[in-house]
Amino acid sequence: MRAVVYRGDGKIDFTNIPQPRPGPGEALLRVIACGICGTDLRILKSGHHRIPTGTSRVLGHELAGEIVEVGEGVDLAIGTGVGVAPNIGCGTCIQCVSEWPNLCADYDAFGISLDGGFAEYMLITTEAIQQGNVVVVPDHVLTQETALAEPLSCCLNGQEAVSVGVGDIVLIVGAGPIGVMHVMLARLSGARMILVSELTEARLKEAEIHGADVIINPEKDDLLTAVRDLTHDHGVDVVIVAASSRIAQEQALELVASRGRINFFGGLQRGDSMVSLDANLIHYKQLVITGTTGSNVRQYRSAINLIASKRILIEDLISGRLPLDQFDEGIRRSQSVREMRIVLEP
Ligand SMILES: [Zn+2]
Ligand SMILES: [Zn+2]
Repeated sequence: MRAVVYRGDGKIDFTNIPQPRPGPGEALLRVIACGICGTDLRILKSGHHRIPTGTSRVLGHELAGEIVEVGEGVDLAIGTGVGVAPNIGCGTCIQCVSEWPNLCADYDAFGISLDGGFAEYMLITTEAIQQGNVVVVPDHVLTQETALAEPLSCCLNGQEAVSVGVGDIVLIVGAGPIGVMHVMLARLSGARMILVSELTEARLKEAEIHGADVIINPEKDDLLTAVRDLTHDHGVDVVIVAASSRIAQEQALELVASRGRINFFGGLQRGDSMVSLDANLIHYKQLVITGTTGSNVRQYRSAINLIASKRILIEDLISGRLPLDQFDEGIRRSQSVREMRIVLEP
């Protein structure tokens, strides 16, 4: 089968590899769509601790497709459309039994420690099936949309952590596809005003189209002044930092109101993740500061439901659909601030 294989050290190629066959308890997925995520770009740039040197790996973890073959004991009909949540925990540690396999120290993930969706077919492991990672999607839902359930579920995790709710004023820093998904979710949760801060005009426009009430380019307008003016000096209830920025994390403490909640959604570059936070702001304003990473299977299922019911119009965020052999074009375009999500269609 044709696949895009990562070889370590930034090397990636389009090649033929043996097509996997499902053993007992396993299933074979024909991949129909797989999104190119910032994580894939980061792996290309600086590797991943779960991909040891010398390993070849099919990347791609935002995926959906059709079941084409099942092993003994698997109760999935051939032809069923599914999305697959990528994170699989060990199943027995405290994080796994507390419904957080994405925090398991011994996790597996499609497209990272297991072969993923940048291929014609992907083997779904027994553990993934047993832990509920394979989610059947209704016929009317396009597979390309289902592929974006994964990043949407990560945003749901981020918003649950800061309890975005009715009447909140929410500031989202960064308006890439993830920032815009946060805008869509905040709107759905009943936020009363959504502010978006972002350096790129094209992305600010995108945020505005999808529900931001106020867009701010901090290179042109001072963010702190804008927030104070808009909130009558109170500050915002919630800040979600959906950008890899130390300065944005530090500034969030000043932008938030008393009893405000902050989520450091975007990770910082490895080796450059020390920030200085004013502890007295946390203390005197009774702030809650959280971080989130990935999502659990419950949130993944919620994301599928939000897409299927059209409460979130995720297809608006797909800015390009490319065949597998144009993966390098897809990677190049994914690095551009002009694009939202690029989806490969194996
Ligand atoms: Zn991703
Ligand atoms: Zn575990």
